[in-house]
Amino acid sequence: MNATQKTIMNANLFSRLFDALDDPARLAIETIEGARISYGELIKRTGQMANVLVNSGVKPGDRVAAQTEKSVPGLVLYLAALRAGAVYLPLNTAYTLNELEYFITDAEPSLVVCDPSKAEGIGAIASKVGAKVETLGADGKGSMTDRADKTKAEFETVPRANDDLAAILYTSGTTGRSKGAMLTHDNLASNSLSLVEYWRFTDKDVLIHALPIYHTHGLFVASNVTLFARASMIFLPKFDPELIIKLMSRATVLMGVPTFYTRLLQSPALTRESTRHMRLFISGSAPLLADTHREWFARTGHAVLERYGMTETNMNTSNPYDGTRVPGAVGHPLPGVRLRVTDPETGEELARDSVGMIEVKGPNVFKGYWRMPEKTKAEFRDDGFFITGDLGKIDANGYVHILGRGKDLVISGGFNVYPKEIESEIDAMPGVIESAVIGLPHADFGEGVTAVVVCDKGAKVDERSVLKALEGRLAKFKMPKRVIVVDELPRNAMGKVQKNILRDTYAKLFSS
Ligand code: AMP
Repeated sequence: MNATQKTIMNANLFSRLFDALDDPARLAIETIEGARISYGELIKRTGQMANVLVNSGVKPGDRVAAQTEKSVPGLVLYLAALRAGAVYLPLNTAYTLNELEYFITDAEPSLVVCDPSKAEGIGAIASKVGAKVETLGADGKGSMTDRADKTKAEFETVPRANDDLAAILYTSGTTGRSKGAMLTHDNLASNSLSLVEYWRFTDKDVLIHALPIYHTHGLFVASNVTLFARASMIFLPKFDPELIIKLMSRATVLMGVPTFYTRLLQSPALTRESTRHMRLFISGSAPLLADTHREWFARTGHAVLERYGMTETNMNTSNPYDGTRVPGAVGHPLPGVRLRVTDPETGEELARDSVGMIEVKGPNVFKGYWRMPEKTKAEFRDDGFFITGDLGKIDANGYVHILGRGKDLVISGGFNVYPKEIESEIDAMPGVIESAVIGLPHADFGEGVTAVVVCDKGAKVDERSVLKALEGRLAKFKMPKRVIVVDELPRNAMGKVQKNILRDTYAKLFSS
């Protein structure tokens, strides 16, 4: 059997990534400590690690959970799990033992890989489901790599079908319990291949990889796209703006969350000159302020390409590579992805420019929530469209705009208030950096519109000035009842504003 036949027969994402590899000496990953790992070496290490998995009793279909700091062996572990036909389950490094208990007992992995410092606590939880525990530290050392180094590299990649599970990623669960999104080999492969083409990735590309690898953005979008393109990545343990600007002189692409871009803009070293070698800046996982987009363009001459996706669906839309990258919009559905906007109550498709629920369908959309058939059923329409929970619209030019999560919609006096609309007005005021609009319990209105605002240092912005500036620009029912000025908004590691924390903090604002 030749390599091409093998690729067709085995839908394992690992095989689709590497079976047709023709130049094993090509550079795949480099680190700031100076390690340079070729594609051939990467495949060798995944073979060793896959043997360790099998020797630990991991069978095809078993879950392999990992809570490890970002490191090259951490990425190798992901690829090895694919290769062994296991289901990879990355866990946010911020999760506490209490939270891990839920994930581990829910997913019932046969192996949990964690930082050596956590092995004892996790061991106690893992034993409840009969899972083994191995270690992998931030420095890449631990029982996993110790064993892998002594193991043979030959490993026959386990055949998988398109529809077999490759990974389970738990959603962040800001309301209710986190749900495990089941992603298949074809969900991941088809989406990455589509992005390689859409974003014109080639083997000449060098990606600055500064995202965590427990989330869809850093694990799948960044890593899979780079590897499919036979490009290389500079693997950074964390986001470091000054280092990133330095690396731009020899890199070509940066993938980031919006906070990367706002922080990079704070550095005087970010200039047209320092970004000259770069061909593409991509942003996603949270809304990029239109102002940030414009400021970035003014400073560097590059228009950030914003795209929209989620754990359950991989990437859904992207601004065009060649056409206009519209600030504040997330672009068009990717090839093969169908996207519609519907009435959240009836599910009826709405006309262009009407705001409603975003629904998507395509090979990118996950298989369902792990062990939650009812929840899965409730979030799919009968014709297979997934109800994303995001509110948005498609404009006259076919660009999709996200107006916030459905659960963030404020209903005041029976009227729907879309936070994004008010946030955009406030953000445009002089002296304002950003804002978050939330609904808080209110005796008369059900919810009272509340704006939480962050200003430039020394700016004369207060409740009165914001309300005055909004007068006449917004219908009365949309006007904030209160404006609170704060130093910064609470954000999670992916740069998402945590409105649930704001709602909790100010829950009693209208009742006290
Ligand atoms: P996650 O599953 O953690 O990737 O979060 C997915 C959610 O992030 C989506 O449902 C959106 O609410 C939000 N999101 C992702 N990309 C964007 C974007 N470019 N603009 C606005 N919201 C976004």
